[in-house]
Amino acid sequence: MIQYYNEWCNGLRCYMCLRTNMPEAPPPGDRRFLIFFDFDETLVDETSDDMVVQAAPGGSLPGWLKDTYRAGQYNQYMQRVLAYLSEHGITQATIRSIIEQIPACPGIPALLSYLQSRPPRDFEIVCVSDANTFFIESWLQHAGFRPLFLRIFTNPAHFDPDGQLQLLPYHSHGCPRCPSNMCKAEIVRDYVAHRTRQRGGRPFERVLYVGDGANDFCPSLTLSPQDTAFPRRDFPMHKLIQEMSEAQPGRFQANVVPWSSGEDFSIRLNGKACVLTRH
Ligand SMILES: [Mg+2]
Ligand SMILES: [Zn+2]
Repeated sequence: MIQYYNEWCNGLRCYMCLRTNMPEAPPPGDRRFLIFFDFDETLVDETSDDMVVQAAPGGSLPGWLKDTYRAGQYNQYMQRVLAYLSEHGITQATIRSIIEQIPACPGIPALLSYLQSRPPRDFEIVCVSDANTFFIESWLQHAGFRPLFLRIFTNPAHFDPDGQLQLLPYHSHGCPRCPSNMCKAEIVRDYVAHRTRQRGGRPFERVLYVGDGANDFCPSLTLSPQDTAFPRRDFPMHKLIQEMSEAQPGRFQANVVPWSSGEDFSIRLNGKACVLTRH
């Protein structure tokens, strides 16, 4: 069964609300960290869309198709790419196989294994990505980390009866910084507020955001001084944070810990709280 996770809470059809029904205060001692992970170039060491394109005849897309890309309209462009692949006989099994073989970023499997070994009261793990449900679900299931993720926020995708992967935008928003189909800041802000309400008003111990791309900069701006942004070193998110820190000192509030490997997220136990930080 394909399960869609992006039916965000409108009071009627919310996945979280249906599951939990009523807000619940967390048990005593629940001082959990909330960690958001991007997918492409963060969990995996490639861009999943680029990997799938390698299945095209000759290993690349024709120029006329590439020329249809418009800035800020990447989701619509990828819809055309997936239609092209389907027209050229690329099947669901082929796409799944390509996705499953994408290597993880260095050290990320060890980090996720550690998080998976901890009790749920320590960490709450969420994925927020501009890839799509089919790619992320396929990779996480194959890698054995799907149960770790409480929610996956990404563009919905499903195979239609003709075997074509149909992709849709995640939502619409008014943020001028982000592509038309997804503002991750809106997702992060809504999720933190929603879960804090469900937790009877108790905030998370820390909010951590791990990413690499330009579209991971916007959500990292929602973090507060006790939170931490983990930008992949020398990738666009890192550069945007550095530019803001130079141009507007103090504007970027969160701690910043650049990472190159999952090993940069050294973990130590500090009393009862698990602290995810760099030594
Ligand atoms: Mg990314
Ligand atoms: Zn935005």
